[in-house]
Amino acid sequence: MARYVTVQVTRKEPPAGAAPAEHCKKCQLPLSKEELEQSWHVCPHCGYHYPLRAPLRLKLLADSGSVTFIGEELRPTDPLEFFDLRPYPERLAEAQLETGLTEALVATRCSISGRPVALGVMDFGFMGGSMGSVVGERFHRLVRVAVEEAMPLVVVASSGGARMQEGLLSLMQMAKTVAAAEMVSEAGLPYITILTHPTTGGVFASFATVADLILAEPGAVMQFAGTRVIEQTTREKLPPDFGSSEKQLVHGQIDLVVDRRELKTRLTHCLDLLMGGRRAGAVGGGRATDPAGGEAANLSGGEAGG
Ligand SMILES: [Zn+2]
Repeated sequence: MARYVTVQVTRKEPPAGAAPAEHCKKCQLPLSKEELEQSWHVCPHCGYHYPLRAPLRLKLLADSGSVTFIGEELRPTDPLEFFDLRPYPERLAEAQLETGLTEALVATRCSISGRPVALGVMDFGFMGGSMGSVVGERFHRLVRVAVEEAMPLVVVASSGGARMQEGLLSLMQMAKTVAAAEMVSEAGLPYITILTHPTTGGVFASFATVADLILAEPGAVMQFAGTRVIEQTTREKLPPDFGSSEKQLVHGQIDLVVDRRELKTRLTHCLDLLMGGRRAGAVGGGRATDPAGGEAANLSGGEAGG
């Protein structure tokens, strides 16, 4: 239990979506807010990937006007009446106000380059992307939609781990999400995760790393415990690139490191490869004649966002 509480320490990050004032924090070259917005918050000089908020991530990946939300009516509660320095409901209200989101996971039905997909996006800006009961339940509902409509499941992870304010209930979401992901596998549907900086703790140790294909953004850190915690426990200095996408690729933990600016194209190729010519929405393994997958997946209007 204490282990999960400590993992939350990795929240010493700039606020998600925060842009440098005038210079890139990695290469120090001049970098305006406008330049950064045009390149999906990737430095055009050195390729450093700044955090990307969930609404922008949806805009990056989902086709315009194709997004409908799943489980949006679910809202976090305070079953343990948890109080650390402040009451949990106060922290929730603040996170909701700051991000415009209702929880750390946004679950959607959308299309990616015309392919119907069940897409989940986490937002690190919402309480460190921590996984509470609503994140687990939204993930479960997302999976059910994927299975019922025979769509691939794609999840963008970004999380400090379990949400300590929900205690054991939060840890149970690890088992719940992994069991849900198994339903996608049993239905013979592809499951792809995209790990972004940082993906750690209970999310790294559950649904983020049980996918058929695990992609990651360059320079992202992904590991179970935070570097400081490991160093304190083992009393050894870790190499500076420990837990990075590039290191995890070398060790076989992930399959591909993909630049955010190419992510939609690469993801589309992966979806086509894994669907093997099947059309999403064709329950019973029907084969498609239209490789674009048609518009059959009950897509309705509505803008990506909030
Ligand atoms: Zn730079």
